[in-house]
Amino acid sequence: MNPFPVILSAPSGGGKTTIARRLLALRTDVGYSVSCTTRPPRPNEVHGRDYYFLPTAEFLERQQRGEFAESAVVHGHLYGTLRSEVRRVLGEGKHVIMDIDVQGAAQFRTAFPESVLIYVLPPSGEVLLERLKGRNTESRESLKQRLISALAELQAVPMYQYVVLNDDLDRAVASVSGIIDAEGLRRERLQNVERDVRRIIERLERELDT
Ligand code: 5GP
Repeated sequence: MNPFPVILSAPSGGGKTTIARRLLALRTDVGYSVSCTTRPPRPNEVHGRDYYFLPTAEFLERQQRGEFAESAVVHGHLYGTLRSEVRRVLGEGKHVIMDIDVQGAAQFRTAFPESVLIYVLPPSGEVLLERLKGRNTESRESLKQRLISALAELQAVPMYQYVVLNDDLDRAVASVSGIIDAEGLRRERLQNVERDVRRIIERLERELDT
């Protein structure tokens, strides 16, 4: 298998983190790239599992050193994907699933052109609003920032190769899983396809010659 990065983007509250978690639990051939951020941890978030929570100075230093495959300011905080994280997961022979925003996705695709880009779309504006408000860990100001970001994120859908409607979680997870399977079978991703086809042809030609 030739592992590749899978980028999931959605407006905040679109459900992509839940989809990523479910895929990680379902498939042994998928791993997660833990992002860095300068935002403070929420209750229940664990450093090294959910994010690497970094002081701004350290984030900027590492950015200067070129450690990030992409980075962006989201809701007023810095976020970034470490090249080392991506290489670690790919090196384990696993597809690397990433939950990154649309600015980051565009940069990341330049760094890793073999990436698959999937947009997770909420079923309606009403549902998205409910999910954004239901988070309850956000202040009013922070919710407003998220609404503005959600509008910008929705403009980016045309950049994505796949769109998955998240009206039913099980179905959305199955769709993303199916996309990963299909992408893994793309001819250009298959390593030995030319050799395998040549062998089959040679076998048939030998048969013809007898
Ligand atoms: P949250 O702070 O709610 O976990 O995530 C906020 C937003 O930041 C989400 O849209 C999420 O996709 C995005 N995000 C998380 N990690 C990264 C990252 O490494 N790079 C970029 N560009 N965005 C990220």
